Amino acid sequence: MKILVLNTGSSSVKYRLFDGTTTLAKGLIERIGEAGGDAGDHEAALQRVMASIDLSGLGAVGHRVVHGGSEFGKATVVDDEVFAVIEGLIPLAPLHNPAALSGIAVARKLLPDVPQIAVFDTAFHQTIPPDGVAYAIDASLAERWQIRRYGFHGTSHAYVARQTAELLDLPAEEAKVITLHLGNGASACAVSGGRSVATSMGMSPQSGLVMGTRSGDVDPTVIFHLHRVAGLPIDEIERSLTRFAGLQGLAGENDMRAVQERLTAGDSAATLAFDVYCRRIKEYVGAYLAILGGADAITFTAGVGENSPQVRSAALSGLSALGITIDETRNARGARIISPDNARVKICVVPTDEELEIAQQATAELRT
Ligand code: AMP
Repeated sequence: MKILVLNTGSSSVKYRLFDGTTTLAKGLIERIGEAGGDAGDHEAALQRVMASIDLSGLGAVGHRVVHGGSEFGKATVVDDEVFAVIEGLIPLAPLHNPAALSGIAVARKLLPDVPQIAVFDTAFHQTIPPDGVAYAIDASLAERWQIRRYGFHGTSHAYVARQTAELLDLPAEEAKVITLHLGNGASACAVSGGRSVATSMGMSPQSGLVMGTRSGDVDPTVIFHLHRVAGLPIDEIERSLTRFAGLQGLAGENDMRAVQERLTAGDSAATLAFDVYCRRIKEYVGAYLAILGGADAITFTAGVGENSPQVRSAALSGLSALGITIDETRNARGARIISPDNARVKICVVPTDEELEIAQQATAELRT
């Protein structure tokens, strides 16, 4: 059965057509609505996608939706009611959910007989227990304004944790895996028996690890201080912490490759950025080892995780007392398992594939 996966952003549509695990077609429509862009609006963009691929035998369209709030713990077929619930979550993801909804609306219109399935970045983390999602703030405020940890990158963490269990031949129901998704956005997740039990992103994708342009964890007083003492408007503070922070903030560029090149040349800002980035990963690994009561595996994925032996090595340095060591020959070679033979904790590198995971979750949902 064919599944079309759509990742609709405000100005782009990424698509990939699967037959099982085989990719039949893929592409990107960019700069939608901009002068000289590929399409005037989302409808024109999706019409272009549909015209370019063979839709015979299409079983479903799987849509990436960033925020499923507390409502969605799994992939869900979109009917009018589900559509309205996702609309109701727009205040929690004002930049992301509207674009996804527009993709769903257009796909429903163009393919009225094909099930549209929403696959949420947050859904995998709905299994985190209450003490892992509640912030210790005024409970009435938290409830009224839906303030809690939701977590993101769920499709990636789910996929990578399952692939790790397969790679290591671990029983999926028992495997304890720490997954480190280190891309432009970055998050850590503790997975026990295939279920997320802790994750570093929170109410938004802003908290946790240091990212390309996002700060990760900061004391909230930084915001009050920038507002009251520095006199910055709240929108500017948000822009600073989401677009001019992280590697960008510390080193002036968001690409880890560039940071590493400057580090090698002895640049002190790049060195600090790299060190802060790797130390934060180590802090979360320590926390999640404690939450899981020890781990079978730690897995690196996404752009940095899959491609940077330096980051993998620095993030897990000095942990041999915890059974965590890296075989640097394997690490440099880019092997799938980079810990020594017989290591207590296996260290793995697993390429993520969020689109394939969306297609698989959509297929599973069709079969229920
Ligand atoms: P992603 O969001 O998963 O596509 O990851 C993108 C990021 O991966 C880029 O911003 C780079 O910083 C990083 N990256 C890609 N290749 C490498 C590499 N060879 N070494 C270090 N970082 C890399």
